[in-house]
Amino acid sequence: MDDDNIREIRIDPIVPTQSVLISTSRGKRPQMDEPFLHRDEPDYVQTCPFCLGNEHLTPPSLLQVPESGKWDIRVVENLYPVLDDDRLPVSLPPGMQQAIEGYGHHEVVIDHFNHGIPLQKMDQQHLALLLAVYRDRMDFFYNNDPRVKYILVYKNSGKAAGGSMEHTHSQLIAMPVVPHNIQDELEWSREFYQKNGECIFCVLCNETSTLKTTLFDKSSGEKRQNYETGKYVVERGKHFVAIKPFASRYEWEVHILPIKHQSSYLKVTAEELDDLSWVLRRTMARLQTVVGNLQYNYFFHSTPHVKDKKYAESYHWHIEICPRTTIPSGFELGSGLFVNTISPEEAAAKLRQVALED
Ligand SMILES: [Zn+2]
Ligand SMILES: [Zn+2]
Ligand SMILES: [Zn+2]
Repeated sequence: MDDDNIREIRIDPIVPTQSVLISTSRGKRPQMDEPFLHRDEPDYVQTCPFCLGNEHLTPPSLLQVPESGKWDIRVVENLYPVLDDDRLPVSLPPGMQQAIEGYGHHEVVIDHFNHGIPLQKMDQQHLALLLAVYRDRMDFFYNNDPRVKYILVYKNSGKAAGGSMEHTHSQLIAMPVVPHNIQDELEWSREFYQKNGECIFCVLCNETSTLKTTLFDKSSGEKRQNYETGKYVVERGKHFVAIKPFASRYEWEVHILPIKHQSSYLKVTAEELDDLSWVLRRTMARLQTVVGNLQYNYFFHSTPHVKDKKYAESYHWHIEICPRTTIPSGFELGSGLFVNTISPEEAAAKLRQVALED
């Protein structure tokens, strides 16, 4: 097959009811308009409630790092009208907002005291602390509110990704139901585990380092195509790997997974967080260099309630980083079939080739 003109439908290996059209011949698609262009943000904005010194403009801290003195990271309840219209992630089922209002918790994590610092510019130690804050807040809710079935940690960065506050922040929603896309991953990976005795995510992780995958024609058994799966690796740390999924929704989507099986983000250790912050920071720096004007969402996908052991062997937590570069076409919205105009292999190669300073 001519690599410059790949046209194929790829089935998501984890959730086989999802597929993506790889069509590099479709050429350039409409990019985000002017209002979506990212501009460099200042370090401090006098009127910003999240900026250092403006703490009186927000509810009191639920958690602060460090605990006393000048803070680096703060967690506050999401009470502001300015955040009310913060677009919820597309993955939430309809009606979720009402359910959250009924009961649930919605918090804002102020990622950094610096207003406009992008994630890849935060120092690694800071990022490790931020990742620990996510874990500790999740832990808190799972242990203190039995009604909480799932905790979604996500970040909207940039207007194109639904961010309505410029100051760098993430959000945490503890909710009474498991979002359907995560339920799909949980159920399909459990089915794979029951059939094959292995976690599909572990299989994919192993393939990125060891195997070549061969596709065979279903009816004739004829060999169709070889994929060198090592091609999907974007970044590799000691404990984590960042990969371009074989069939991802967004052209520059990258997932970060623990290399060794781990079902819940709550189990992540301090040493692992150190490595995760290294992999995350470098992955974001690669994306920023290649995509430019980086606007993105990331989502933490982990097992539901920590006491629920049903998915402990079959599910494998991960971070999905979804840069927003194009406006979905009518075809995509109508068919649910996402189009990639760059092949995942080529996208991964471009990301890998970025020369990083540290
Ligand atoms: Zn600010
Ligand atoms: Zn696994
Ligand atoms: Zn996922």
